[in-house]
Amino acid sequence: MLKLFRFLKPYWLSITGVLVLVFLQTICDLYLPTLMSDIINDGVIKGDTDEIMRIGGKMLLVTGAGVVFAIIASYLASKSSVGLGTILRNKVFNRVESFSLNEFDKLGTSTLITRTTNDINQVQMVTMMIMRMMVAAPMMCIGGIILAFNKDKPLTIVLGVAIPALILFIVIVAKKVIPLFKIIQSKLDKINLVLRESLTGIRVVRAFNRIEHERKRFQDANEDLTNTYITANRIMAFLFPAIMLIMNFTSIAILWFGGLRIDAGEMDLGALSAFVQYAMQIMFSILMFSMMFIMVPRAQAAAVRINEVLEVVPEINDPEEGAECGTTKGVVEFKDVSFSYHGAEQPALSNITFSAKPGEVTAIIGSTGSGKSTLVNLIPRFYDVDSGSVLVDGVDVREMTQECLRNKIGFVPQKSVLFSGTITDNIRYGKDDATEQEIRHAAEVAQAAQFISEMDGGYNHEISQGGTNVSGGQKQRLSIARALVRKPEIYVFDDSFSALDFKTDAKLRAALRGEIAEATVLIVSQRVATVLDADRIIVLNEGRIAGIGTHKELLNSCDVYREIVYSQLSEEEIA
Ligand code: ADP
Ligand code: MG
Repeated sequence: MLKLFRFLKPYWLSITGVLVLVFLQTICDLYLPTLMSDIINDGVIKGDTDEIMRIGGKMLLVTGAGVVFAIIASYLASKSSVGLGTILRNKVFNRVESFSLNEFDKLGTSTLITRTTNDINQVQMVTMMIMRMMVAAPMMCIGGIILAFNKDKPLTIVLGVAIPALILFIVIVAKKVIPLFKIIQSKLDKINLVLRESLTGIRVVRAFNRIEHERKRFQDANEDLTNTYITANRIMAFLFPAIMLIMNFTSIAILWFGGLRIDAGEMDLGALSAFVQYAMQIMFSILMFSMMFIMVPRAQAAAVRINEVLEVVPEINDPEEGAECGTTKGVVEFKDVSFSYHGAEQPALSNITFSAKPGEVTAIIGSTGSGKSTLVNLIPRFYDVDSGSVLVDGVDVREMTQECLRNKIGFVPQKSVLFSGTITDNIRYGKDDATEQEIRHAAEVAQAAQFISEMDGGYNHEISQGGTNVSGGQKQRLSIARALVRKPEIYVFDDSFSALDFKTDAKLRAALRGEIAEATVLIVSQRVATVLDADRIIVLNEGRIAGIGTHKELLNSCDVYREIVYSQLSEEEIA
């Protein structure tokens, strides 16, 4: 957790303030029992009303000052710990944004969410606690012991018995509770995972009548968490009454022995009442310590999880030296590229070599799992190759900045993703400063204008989270429009026409041809009709190139291609 505290730097002034104020407040607290003793000895016993008023006034003043210090300290402590939370959330978010897809594959989305929310909350809470107790607890404990000793030495023996007993008890409880609190964090992850899965997959859950199954899964995870919480809290619930009991027994013992000493004339009433209060303060400070002992390990577990995210070194980084962007326009070249996913036995791509030039359409066809998406994902450098190189405009993608590289590319992923917001917002995602005109034009080329105009509010129609209120084909066309509005040098369509009917598919490609004639176009598809008229077709099979050429050439030379074609087109169409 100490590592995370480096982010508290901007709040050093507030934190110093808290420490000083808590110091002052503790002095006030420690001073009060002494005043109490005076008011009893000099005022009450002697029946001196003036003295009572004088010391009473002093006590009021000290209490008032203590309250003011406490309030300001509390305010500053909240401000700094909440500030720490904000900074951490930003850091974690920014780091996650810079993750390559490999890192997402490794950590998983649910735990990233719990780490950004719940774990940071834990750290935030404990930071506040530490700030307020770090000074107060030891000071009150040591100050209390010294002052109590001053009031009456022999009575301190009672404390010598009570304090070790209390500490022993707290240690036993903490040993039991701390591991439980650590487990709770990972159980929260599990709940988050189940909840996310069943919410995003709600259609599948319904369609397959798996509501009961999902409910059971959630219930299990929930009960698991609940039971751990209950066990932990049962022990915690036991802690406080037990401590109160120890404290009360201590008071009784002090009053008992104090009474004997007063009888013997060795002690006065004021000293006894002050002593009781000091004893309470000492024990209360030990209680504060114990709270820290229990809460800090839990936050520590959370802090480790946060650090794990912050310490991930993204595999994909910008080169150190000034980035060359490449001058030629939109040439994509693969040179003997091989790539495997982390933990996969077989490489997803082997020895891929080809080039795609501006003004040409390069199509990639192959059965599912043949590596088409993997191949196009290497162009915007979502993953780094194992060997060989991917060149864009003659420069290795690892040697230019990601921003420069991705600015050249209009990418339409296989799974269309829309964000919550209007249709205009979604298309403008491709280009911040796109004018109304440009957005409309992109939508027209993408064959989206028609259905947009039929929607409530047209371009201002609200897309719901994840784009669930538009059809699959509409989603695809909106993602295409989003790529078109950028006017990039390179277009990548990863199976982006799959949800379109053949007529719309043909119309869209005809419109595209006019629109993006100058650019380099890569089209991934499983449909022969979509790739038929491409300048170059790359046939992929199990991560290897089975053939490159035009439709006619491949029909004569490539078995894999012929098989695909025969399975889709009739004899006359092929001729
Ligand atoms: P296509 O797009 O041609 O259907 P992909 O490129 O998506 O095929 O997948 C190629 C192979 O890589 C498949 O065998 C698939 O199981 C594997 N694969 C795809 N994505 C991942 C990933 N994130 N992690 C591990 N393996 C993956
Ligand atoms: Mg794919």
